[in-house]
Amino acid sequence: MRSRHQAWVQPSGVNPEEAAELLLRDLRSSRRGLSSAEARRRLVQYGRNELRRRGTRRWPGELGRQFTHPLALLLWVAAALLLIVGSLVVAAAVMLIIVLNAAFAFVQEIQAERAVEALAQYIPQRAKAVRDGSAQEIDAAELVPGDIVVLEEGDRVAADVRLLAGAIEVDMSALTGESVPTLRSASILDVDVPVLRAHELVFSGTNCTGGEAHGVVFATGMTTELGRIAALSERVKPAPSPLERQVRRVAWFIAGVSLVLALAFIPAAVFGAHLSPVDSLVFAAGLLAGMVPEGLLPVITLALAVAVKALAARGALVKRLSAVETLGSTDVICTDKTGTLTENRMRPLAVWTLAGRCDLQGVPPGSVNAPPGSPLSSAGHIAAACNNAHFQSGKEPSGDPTEVAVLLAAQALGADPDAARREAARRWQFHFNPELKLMSTIDQRDGRLVVHTKGAPETLLPRCATFLDPHGRVTPLQDRDHDVITAQVSAFASGGLRVLALAERVLPADAPPPHRRDDAESNLCFVGLVAMLDPPRPEVADAVSRCRTAGIRIIVITGDHPLTATAIAQRIGIVGDHPRVITGEELDQLTEQQISDLVRDEPEILFARASPEAKLHVADALRDQGHVVAMTGDGVNDAPALHRADIGVAMGRSGTDVAREAATMVLTDDNFASLVAAVEAGRRIYDNVRKFIVYIFAHATPEVAPFLVFALGGGLVPLPLTILQILAFDVGSETMPALALSREPAEPGLMTRPPRPRTEGVIRRSMLLRSWLFLGVIVGALQLAGFFYVLVRAGWHPGAPTGVGDPLHHAYQQATTMTFLGMIAGQIGTAFAVRTEHASLRSVGVFSNRYLLAGIAGELALAALLVYLPPFQALLGTAALPVSDLLLLLPYPFIVWGADESRRYLIRRRARRRGAPEVGTTRRRVT
Ligand code: ATP
Repeated sequence: MRSRHQAWVQPSGVNPEEAAELLLRDLRSSRRGLSSAEARRRLVQYGRNELRRRGTRRWPGELGRQFTHPLALLLWVAAALLLIVGSLVVAAAVMLIIVLNAAFAFVQEIQAERAVEALAQYIPQRAKAVRDGSAQEIDAAELVPGDIVVLEEGDRVAADVRLLAGAIEVDMSALTGESVPTLRSASILDVDVPVLRAHELVFSGTNCTGGEAHGVVFATGMTTELGRIAALSERVKPAPSPLERQVRRVAWFIAGVSLVLALAFIPAAVFGAHLSPVDSLVFAAGLLAGMVPEGLLPVITLALAVAVKALAARGALVKRLSAVETLGSTDVICTDKTGTLTENRMRPLAVWTLAGRCDLQGVPPGSVNAPPGSPLSSAGHIAAACNNAHFQSGKEPSGDPTEVAVLLAAQALGADPDAARREAARRWQFHFNPELKLMSTIDQRDGRLVVHTKGAPETLLPRCATFLDPHGRVTPLQDRDHDVITAQVSAFASGGLRVLALAERVLPADAPPPHRRDDAESNLCFVGLVAMLDPPRPEVADAVSRCRTAGIRIIVITGDHPLTATAIAQRIGIVGDHPRVITGEELDQLTEQQISDLVRDEPEILFARASPEAKLHVADALRDQGHVVAMTGDGVNDAPALHRADIGVAMGRSGTDVAREAATMVLTDDNFASLVAAVEAGRRIYDNVRKFIVYIFAHATPEVAPFLVFALGGGLVPLPLTILQILAFDVGSETMPALALSREPAEPGLMTRPPRPRTEGVIRRSMLLRSWLFLGVIVGALQLAGFFYVLVRAGWHPGAPTGVGDPLHHAYQQATTMTFLGMIAGQIGTAFAVRTEHASLRSVGVFSNRYLLAGIAGELALAALLVYLPPFQALLGTAALPVSDLLLLLPYPFIVWGADESRRYLIRRRARRRGAPEVGTTRRRVT
């Protein structure tokens, strides 16, 4: 295993530094990185840093599966029976159905898969590489061997890297399955250990969970360890979603019912209608083939894929198809504040020291009078030193928005914001830790080492023993000073401002600098506060109010100050005047049961100064109560909560790679409003799935009715619909309009009804009643009316012969054609009827779904061919109908649709009388 790196990493007797230099020489690189020109050249030589999975040859297997899934097997059995009894034409028709369905399902699956794969390109992985002497963010696919990369907390490692400086913690679970973070350091050189355990190496696909390091890329793309695994592994087929499982169950149920009906038909036809056993068998097999809903699942898969694509275009990337249905039943959104509810474009408003407040709004750099030694000048120094933001002339500032704002404040106070000089002076850094809510650096300043710390005032103040008085003198911090500072923090925070405290400690000249964080961040001298404005996003208030009407509860869980969080939450309408605010400290004191009671009983609750674990506790409590929870997060520590929530939502712009990895959905615009739009889309898609289930089920009754009439007629009534006509109807009319229904626009009231309960299945009894007993019965009655009308008009009476050669045979053919076309006309009415579940069709627009109109046009064209083209007439037993008969069919769709429109109207009226909301058949308590 080690051999691949043998040339680069000396086996023994070499210190880490020398080994690193050797490796750099071998890779023809240096610690200053590559030039852009050289990187371009290497990109051509080594190829893009991407994984290619094996899988191009898998399609014959996939296609084969479509022919062998259980429902297809059932149809094969029917076809085999038909062949045995010698009914070749019907057998061929059943096989045609199997083939068409298999091809259709295969195409849908490929399309769905492509849609999900295409999402990857929306979030190209980024990497920080040193090119032309400066660190730049580049597309990770463009990394080449020899590139120097910077790895920081939250980054996903994009190539195999040998560390050159620094140390990081790495989560290797993607490669080894072990999720305990392991230390990787440039200064430890392992020999004779397996490559994956070498301390100086980190690998593509793993995550950096802490620390910071520089390293040189030694393998990219398929030559990385991950590439080797990818080359070995087949594509993993995603597990079926709950929706798919339910639909599969229902498809089976219907197949079972069809089988029972078909089998029951045989004795009824033999003894009731005196049909020969062979003919009865043929009818039964045909009936079965017509009724098995084999097209249902692929239509649903495609509907979800279409939704996923549409969501991506609106800024919400969903990683699994099944997430769309979960989104639709989301009833609690736990959101953080900064960047999601607010713009994350922070501006410094003021700096406050014990000498007073200094407003910074609209103040040009360096224009504040901050004499050396004054608290303001010290505040400027701390703000500039304890910072990782970058200002480059002519470019937007880069870095964490809080740090950018702090650096802007430093600049206004006359401090030097130059990153290179800052880094030259820096001796040590304690990264910002969201648990501690602090960040510190140890820097060289005026010949001394100084600890510079910034962070949340409540955590920083207890670490201060002194403060800088208005004259810049270090003074012991008394309780009353503490109160003055805290009062100022509250004043800023209750205006919705974000407040950071600044502190410092000059280290004794002779003592070694502290290397433990606790030591460094103690005995500090409080210098001042920076207040920043991060306004709410303008579109969020509207999204919040849509959540309210939709019965979706919003819980803010933020790391920010309670007053800041409350002010912002109030401003955008999430909470009213008196929300219950729980701080992270309070939460830590509560038992699981207490947390659970709290989230259940408090209608307006807000978690501030919350640690990432708080998110986990709240998510658990809510899920235990049966809620479907969407949870946002962006840091490494948020990953467990993102995993645990039903829908983990990460931020595409500001979030870490680790959070994006753990999430089910990534918001490319970081915007809360996009999350709400995604929930809305989830609801719409679920509704649409229900619509086409009603549509597809509705043709069962008209298919069975003719056989029932025939069997019960005891030989007096000829069969009103031939087997081949049923099969032709099945092929021609079912799928196109069903697909079109998955693109239905949202029905009014979509976001004014409560969320669907987690336990509610996709198919409700009311849907079955509506499709089988209401729409189906009306279509069945209409088609049979047409059938008898044409027969009777030609002089038929019960028992009159209609067989080949009989005088009534042509009339009989026309009558079955009338049944056939009646069924198609009725289904068109059904398609329009099911477009809305509660509302009137007018409210969504009669012609608003062009796919449906196209589907119906296609269906009509096909029907015309089947009825008027002689070869089809011979095959299906159809006969041309006079225009007067066609005119009779014209009202059919309107009758079906009109009847359903009236039914819906009556239901709405009844609901109004009862004072219940107009829509939604499910109701649940929304706290
Ligand atoms: P949210 O959880 O809503 O995104 P947040 O951004 O305030 O809110 P964190 O990023 O965890 O949450 O920050 C928590 C607190 O830590 C902040 O309110 C601030 O007081 C402090 N803080 C944030 N960023 C820094 C930083 N770069 N350096 C020092 N302290 C910081």
